[in-house]
Amino acid sequence: MIDTQEPLAPLVDRPQSYEDLLARAGFVAPLDHEQHALKAVLADYHFQREVPCGLKGCRQPHNNGFLVITEDGVETNVGKDCGRSFFGDEVFSTVHAEYQRRRQRADLIARFRSLQAGADPIADRLKDVVFRAFGGKWVRKVESSMVKVLGPALLTSLEAAHLRRELVVSRSVERTEEEIQNVMALTPGLSRERAKYSTESIGTLEAMPWIGFDFTGRLLKRFVDALRSFETLDPEQLSTPKLRLLLKPFEELDAEVAAAEEAAASVLRFLSPDNLELVALWLPPHLQGSAEALREWAAGPKRAALLTGDPG
Ligand SMILES: [Zn+2]
Repeated sequence: MIDTQEPLAPLVDRPQSYEDLLARAGFVAPLDHEQHALKAVLADYHFQREVPCGLKGCRQPHNNGFLVITEDGVETNVGKDCGRSFFGDEVFSTVHAEYQRRRQRADLIARFRSLQAGADPIADRLKDVVFRAFGGKWVRKVESSMVKVLGPALLTSLEAAHLRRELVVSRSVERTEEEIQNVMALTPGLSRERAKYSTESIGTLEAMPWIGFDFTGRLLKRFVDALRSFETLDPEQLSTPKLRLLLKPFEELDAEVAAAEEAAASVLRFLSPDNLELVALWLPPHLQGSAEALREWAAGPKRAALLTGDPG
């Protein structure tokens, strides 16, 4: 089959300065738009300094615009709204939409290739977050040590408190007879039984994003496995929606690494003696039997061994 379609003008790398535009062989400014028919947009540009519009009837300074080519192969630059004003809404909209489609695809392919090229260092960085001292694997070790000694219900309750952001630890304090009289006088209808105790805040538990944080799933399965599957793919052969789908998770890569690092760092704060004592005081009624075991664990060799950070 003979391809009768006219070849599309190749996209141009985004110009970084006015000099990049002037250096192009076919670049003409000022250009009389009435003597040339617009063919295609070649690049968009975003300059710090204002540059003059290439159209003879305009010449207005602007920061954002397009490099365009006409049917007779001449190039010029137009401010972001000038193409529409001078060549007409319909003509410009058509070439601009075509440009957007091609540029987005080119950007996706470039992004895909950069992930292919950088796969090893990215995978190393992710594995490091999981396997290094005080990393994700170590967090699992801390978790299982606690479950072994204290049972799974403690972690479940702590996680629930973390998710509800109910981290304040308080205790009931018995009021003196004089205080009881005062409170009852100030709160009509309050029973003596209710007036007998006041609630006093004694501290706030460290946040616990580490409980149940899925280091393997969120870092290794999601990203490292994906990168491995990219190895044999040619992005030119993939549809634009498919490229978009494959690249989408990587928008969250840095945020996921930051979340994982914060989760791991939060364990050390959790393991501090002050915080563990607060946990012992915080224990809900059904877990109060664990307070002694928790204090022993906090003061004992098992917790001390964890503080080496050894993920082993
Ligand atoms: Zn203009």
